Amino acid sequence: MINEKYLGLGTKRSVIRELFEYGKKRKAEIGEENVFDFSLGNPSIEPPKSLYKSIIAHLSGDDPLSLHGYTSAQGDATVRKTISDSIKKRFGFDIGADMIYMTCGAAASLTITLSALCVKGDKVLAFAPYFPEYAVFSVTAGAGFEAVKPSPDMSIDLSDLEGKLDASVKAVIINSPNNPSGVVYDEQTLRALSALLKEKERKFGHAIYLISDEPYRELSYGAEVPYIPGIYDDTIVCYSYSKSLSIPGERIGYIAVSPKAENADNVYFAVCGAGRALGYVCAPSLMQKVAADCVYDTSDVAQYKENRDILCGALKEYGYEFAKPDGAFYLFVKSPSGDGDEFSERAKKHDLLVVSGKGFGVPTHVRIAYCVKKETIVRSLPAFKALIEEYK
Ligand code: PLP
Repeated sequence: MINEKYLGLGTKRSVIRELFEYGKKRKAEIGEENVFDFSLGNPSIEPPKSLYKSIIAHLSGDDPLSLHGYTSAQGDATVRKTISDSIKKRFGFDIGADMIYMTCGAAASLTITLSALCVKGDKVLAFAPYFPEYAVFSVTAGAGFEAVKPSPDMSIDLSDLEGKLDASVKAVIINSPNNPSGVVYDEQTLRALSALLKEKERKFGHAIYLISDEPYRELSYGAEVPYIPGIYDDTIVCYSYSKSLSIPGERIGYIAVSPKAENADNVYFAVCGAGRALGYVCAPSLMQKVAADCVYDTSDVAQYKENRDILCGALKEYGYEFAKPDGAFYLFVKSPSGDGDEFSERAKKHDLLVVSGKGFGVPTHVRIAYCVKKETIVRSLPAFKALIEEYK
């Protein structure tokens, strides 16, 4: 007898992966350039030059055994100190190296953090639209999962959150810039969220941790992305270099526990314990060092901005409805029929691959991942135009 829960997860692909696989087949049939594949959030911009320089320098060093060896379970001490210093320099906020845990990207950061915090009977909330794996990670950590509905501009609906904040809520996951909407929550929204969570903490007599999932922090097109530990004490940051340095396959990121969080030291020890229990110790050693060398560097985000501007300009003109994204590399568009599944299926007939919003908790929408070549966007525009004409 094997574990039915994991069997189910392993045999049933996510909608995003399903569409991506369909795209691969279709490209083999009609040619790569004839399929407009907006399914996957794989960076389309090269890593910064500093990343290559750092890799080469480390590989040319004279201590390969140490370079490729185990680090401390929570990560190399010098690397964690460099990250801690960079947080202080960039956001004016102190998170010591002893509160940082190196991970294999945001997915590992989230799985570890949720396992560290949750016990049976706890509930985790996330703001729709949300990254679909949050539900999988929460349930795996033994908690229940519930989505808070968005406001019409895809920001946070605080009154819906208030209705869902009961004594069983252990953590709330927030993701800004957001996948799939590209929305950046502004400081005023975050301060209002903080005030509501604090009020509920007082009422229920326990901490409600805010888990800030930040793979897109550096992908902002001008909007300020506030540093959440400076706004709400009980915050744990789950950071990733996957998108900022265009290295999702290298699997590197970190968890930072705010020292102001309730029980901060024990939360950090529980993070270490969960990392140990889940087998997430000693994140890739070379990549830890490379990430530390590149803490102030980012891929050339201006290229994503150009894609955004071309796509948003054209789609608006054709009559599509959406909240203009301020960051990440996604556009979340309302289906003209009000049904994201239907729109995604119909789009396939134009060889446009866009993901239904159902898995993101907003079934009326579809996600367009515009981390593709600029030419792909330009050449896809007639198909987007023809598609919306079918609804008129
Ligand atoms: N969180 C969000 C919102 C994401 O979009 C992704 C990946 O696309 C992840 C987490 C996982 O990121 P990583 O590749 O760093 O594990």
